[in-house]
Amino acid sequence: MQGEVGEEEITVKKVDYKALKSGGIMRQTEDGYFAVRLKVTGGNLTLEQLRGLEEVASRYGNGTLHLTARQGVEIPYIHIADLEEVIEKLKSYGLELGACGPRVRTVTACQGRSICPNGCIETQELAREIAARYYGQTLPHKFKFGITGCANNCLKAEENDLGIKGVCRPNWIKENCTACGLCTKICPVNAITLNQQEISVDYEVCIGCGDCVKACPFEAYRGEYGYSLSFGGSFGRKINIGKKLIPFISSKEKMFAIFDKTLEFYRKEGKTGERFYKTLERVGFAKLEQYLNEGEGENEGN
Ligand code: SF4
Ligand code: SF4
Ligand code: SF4
Repeated sequence: MQGEVGEEEITVKKVDYKALKSGGIMRQTEDGYFAVRLKVTGGNLTLEQLRGLEEVASRYGNGTLHLTARQGVEIPYIHIADLEEVIEKLKSYGLELGACGPRVRTVTACQGRSICPNGCIETQELAREIAARYYGQTLPHKFKFGITGCANNCLKAEENDLGIKGVCRPNWIKENCTACGLCTKICPVNAITLNQQEISVDYEVCIGCGDCVKACPFEAYRGEYGYSLSFGGSFGRKINIGKKLIPFISSKEKMFAIFDKTLEFYRKEGKTGERFYKTLERVGFAKLEQYLNEGEGENEGN
């Protein structure tokens, strides 16, 4: 895989701090000590991995772990002399080092449909698939994927360079509708209008919460589940809310084609050290939209 971070790149003996950092090993304030960052896809760890963390933190660290803002784990106070042993030990528990620097970072995700009753999509499975395909790939700057299972947005999709949100698209079934008007009152964004027994949903306004589908007493909506994609989010020194360019796409395959093209676009258009939103500001969001719409990356119902 292009630009993947491998342990072989980490030359502990030479103390190449840059190479160490790119592989998730960050120099601490205290001389000779490092915080080791781990790859924790979707914020999920097994009990066995937690036991591994406990062992490493107590034997090599100072007995503490730090949970990062992006669902990761860092083990502080690892002495340089122990780094290689720590990496091997973590590996034996199925724990991989995290990625830092200009590359695809840990993929974050909420619990999603398999656990959370509000979920529209399987976020954890998707997080693993995205991580398997893109994690650690080199880009002009850091790049974050974040997945949230529904419009409640617990994972804050728009903070990410590429935000994925599970959405429910309501399709009206005329023959079931009694024109009771309940859905028009329930919709939190007034996307539904009822006019002369006809329902119309403004999909430009709809946030895909699915409340109308759940509330209709006559099953006059069929909920279609899919993904809404936002681009160019950033919550660092400068805050930028990702722009929703793809409001609804149901095919996972097509969505991955969009991810491929997005990273391709960033590699092509982005300058070294330039965050994705900065590239989009410079070249224009329209250029990305055009790029995504060429060939296979076309979205549905835009
Ligand atoms: S975003 Fe939705 S699916 Fe995910 S945890 Fe929150 S309520 Fe559940
Ligand atoms: S709640 Fe159902 S039955 Fe009532 S107006 Fe809406 S779609 Fe029709
Ligand atoms: S899915 Fe939610 S936002 Fe969309 S029309 Fe139904 S209630 Fe309104």
